[in-house]
Amino acid sequence: MFFNYFAPARIMFGKGQLNHLYASSLPGRRALLVVSSGRSIRENGYLGRVEKQLDLAGVSYVVYDNVQPNPTQSNVMLGSAFANRNACDFVVALGGGSVMDAAKAIACMATNDGDLWDYVTGGSGKGKPFLNAPLPVVAITTTAGTGSEVNQWAVITREETNEKIGMGNDKVFPVIAVVDPELMLTVPPELTAYQGFDALFHATEGYISKSASPVSDLFALKAIALIGSSLARTVRNGLDEDARADVALANTLSGMLLSICRITSEHSMEHALSAFHPALPHGAGLLMLSRAYYSHFALSGVCDEKMIAMAKALGRQTDTAADFVDALVALQEDCGVADLRMSDYGIRKEALPRYVKNARETMGELFEMDPVPLSDADCLSIFERSWR
Ligand SMILES: [Zn+2]
Repeated sequence: MFFNYFAPARIMFGKGQLNHLYASSLPGRRALLVVSSGRSIRENGYLGRVEKQLDLAGVSYVVYDNVQPNPTQSNVMLGSAFANRNACDFVVALGGGSVMDAAKAIACMATNDGDLWDYVTGGSGKGKPFLNAPLPVVAITTTAGTGSEVNQWAVITREETNEKIGMGNDKVFPVIAVVDPELMLTVPPELTAYQGFDALFHATEGYISKSASPVSDLFALKAIALIGSSLARTVRNGLDEDARADVALANTLSGMLLSICRITSEHSMEHALSAFHPALPHGAGLLMLSRAYYSHFALSGVCDEKMIAMAKALGRQTDTAADFVDALVALQEDCGVADLRMSDYGIRKEALPRYVKNARETMGELFEMDPVPLSDADCLSIFERSWR
């Protein structure tokens, strides 16, 4: 038994916490405020609320809103140049995983020379270490899914080569994470479900991972139980504040888990799909793969006890590993996301071998975390059984 525990983000969790941001020790005097290119962050009044907090704190800022879903290398490089042109000394991310991940990568590239892909490990990345500490990051999440506000990871896509790769280092943990479920009340049902399942799969992959530890297991099982008890309620009634708070907590616990253990190849396989098909939401891609993926490990018999514990966390009284898959599918049905189709996103069955190759080449490290090694044939079979 061994583990490393390092999770240094100060977390401000709970309804109304955003209103106290001005009084926390913000790490600079001039912020790059990173938001998405969509309209909702303005229309829902969230941008105005954060601007008010910065005004109250006496912090000046410039807004960078050139971040798309599945943020790209060029979103990051333009953002870091913009930060430097405006002499920003810290970064505030306001949005979901795409925005927070882009903001972290921008913070790194604002203080380091060259191109982002010089520092990415995996795929065509050159794997150089960052020489300089990034700008400090404050992350305010408006979704409950990625948990990016509390960990060191950023997932960025390089469009020319269809690579979607997670990068991170210990210096890029946000210094302050605001998780205010009030900011999540406007997330539509479908996205609530996709994001909630992303949080669930961080927990389930982390739990069966070879790098799991007694500490990460605490985060995983609690997150799975919270998603099991409250995600479907949240999808049915987005204004249910208690259910939203439960799902927000699951998101944060899963995000903390990501900082202390590595997840498994389900994420490598999904990144391959959304690298080629950026319109595919990350959580939706994971959902499409999940039934075949967990069935594979349930049948292999290598992690029966863990499967049973996860089924119990989802509320099943059982002593059979396969019941976890049944509980998972039942939860998907409850949330209205059991029948997602890859073909609706332009993914062709004949192209599946290319995703096997891409998953291994870009995010091969996560395959090493699987409880039993997945061969390329296993991987292809999971893609094939998931395809509709
Ligand atoms: Zn994820």
